[in-house]
Amino acid sequence: DANALKRILTSIDGRGYGSYKQLKGTYDLGPCRLLINHVQVDPFAPPSLMRLVVDAGTADLPEDLISDRRGRIATTDYLARAVAGATRSLDAVSIGAPQQEVLDRTSIALTEQGLEARISVQLPAAGRRVKSRQATRLLTEDLPRIAEAALVHASLDADALRAHVTLHRDQEALRDQLADRGLVAFVGDGAMLPRRSGDSDLPLEAGAVPFRSPGSLRVSFELPSGRRVSGMGVPDGVTVIVGGGYHGKSTLLRAIERGVYPHRDGDGREWVVTRAEVAAIRAEDGRSVAGVDISPFITGLPSGTDTRRFSTTNASGSTSQAANLVEAVDAGASALLIDEDTSATNFMIRDERMRRLIPAEREPITPFVDRIRPLYTERGVSTVLVAGGSGAFFDVADHVIALDEYVPHDVTEQARELADGAAAEPGEDMFGPPSARVPAAGALRPPGKKKPATARGRETIRFGHEQIDLSALSQLVDAAQTEAIAHALDRLAELMERTGPVEQAEPSGARPTLDAAITALFARLDDEGLEALSPHRGHPGHLARPRPLEVHAAVNRYRGLRLDG
Ligand code: ADP
Ligand code: MG
Repeated sequence: DANALKRILTSIDGRGYGSYKQLKGTYDLGPCRLLINHVQVDPFAPPSLMRLVVDAGTADLPEDLISDRRGRIATTDYLARAVAGATRSLDAVSIGAPQQEVLDRTSIALTEQGLEARISVQLPAAGRRVKSRQATRLLTEDLPRIAEAALVHASLDADALRAHVTLHRDQEALRDQLADRGLVAFVGDGAMLPRRSGDSDLPLEAGAVPFRSPGSLRVSFELPSGRRVSGMGVPDGVTVIVGGGYHGKSTLLRAIERGVYPHRDGDGREWVVTRAEVAAIRAEDGRSVAGVDISPFITGLPSGTDTRRFSTTNASGSTSQAANLVEAVDAGASALLIDEDTSATNFMIRDERMRRLIPAEREPITPFVDRIRPLYTERGVSTVLVAGGSGAFFDVADHVIALDEYVPHDVTEQARELADGAAAEPGEDMFGPPSARVPAAGALRPPGKKKPATARGRETIRFGHEQIDLSALSQLVDAAQTEAIAHALDRLAELMERTGPVEQAEPSGARPTLDAAITALFARLDDEGLEALSPHRGHPGHLARPRPLEVHAAVNRYRGLRLDG
């Protein structure tokens, strides 16, 4: 119990920091049990991993809220926010707090016994010595207080918890219906899309113009709670968003990008819901590319390089955007979101004068405007595109939406009258079937790699001696997702070297494709939960579930990636 903990702490006061190791074990602290799993070796190492366990009877969660997976995700998200709130004044304790999105996380687990909060604790130090008094207060007073405030009678504010779960189930039910309704995304009337600043995901505080759907694109949904929402349906096919500079085009597209995740109440984007496997595509010069077929966009490079298996350590704007696009489509993206602001112009369009000056056979790039329709007709991949600077896409658009002072209007008819019918003739099978990419043996075991892959914030993964740069992935939203991807890389390396799961993925016994390996990994997460990614049992660390698309993206950006054949 707490006294045992106090005794240990008193006996190690002033000793070397390593003495904290003696704390490993389980202690009864009244409202909760404290499980100390992993103790940091020194004050500068990653913090110690501990769990607060509260019995089912004490936690007292309503059964109907945790009877399905969605209910459990929303409930544990609610509890993680409650714990984060209770630890706000304590710098030493963290739970990997949820932000604006509601994600599947490892921070709170619902177990047979009850519920478990996985926290990390920075144990106090004076230099490199144990500070007992402070540690005693932290572990025997602060932690029980947190459990009391956030986890005991977790449903104390039963209405708020129920509302959180109901919203989440409604949002996911809406997402379920999008494909059948022929929609890429839905943007609800009244949504508040703008954010506080370029580096804040919080809603703009004052002066936001609520979203209002144009009549011709208005759709509505009945949701399980009985709620009915209406708003703009973004249809399958090619949709172009136009409008003057600063009229809100990029803001709308970014909201759709983020709509692949459900947002918390009060975010303003609660009813911006996008199909789960929609990918934002941008230029990313400098990235490395391994064996990607970019020939639909780029052929006949002056260097003679084969663009059906294109590799480079330093892609240009246009080749990086082509590679990003092909990789996303091969990884299962059903629609692409592209903003002119983050695109390579020569990848997107080529105007008439340039076509006359530089004959097609001297220009390796076939611009996206000529490929956007075959992408839809051959592969079924839709595009939503922001293009305020060029009318070139009028010819190939199914729908054109104009933003005027943040309010969308359907201008498809007017745009069609301006189109000059110069759309490229559909070729045949420009986009072949996805190419089978098989990582070479040991390709995910970098030389010099002894430690597990680790995330450095949201944008970087340390993988052996390499850094994988994920800063261009706008739909990777949380550092806990990046941490999960880091673990996924290690699990994929194991999976590709073992035989069991690999044979399932590839009955022939051949080495699995990257796609098969990632699919097998996600099937395992569905079965065993997100913590299957972690090498630790008990306390898996703070992980949030990434999409398969971002796992593909991380592997594809690894500079050591080599393919078979
Ligand atoms: P564009 O891409 O058309 O140039 P942006 O989407 O970048 O425009 O938006 C320009 C500015 O207007 C940004 O500061 C953005 O936060 C703000 N903004 C966007 N939508 C709204 C809105 N609905 N209400 C108020 N401000 C908005
Ligand atoms: Mg813009």
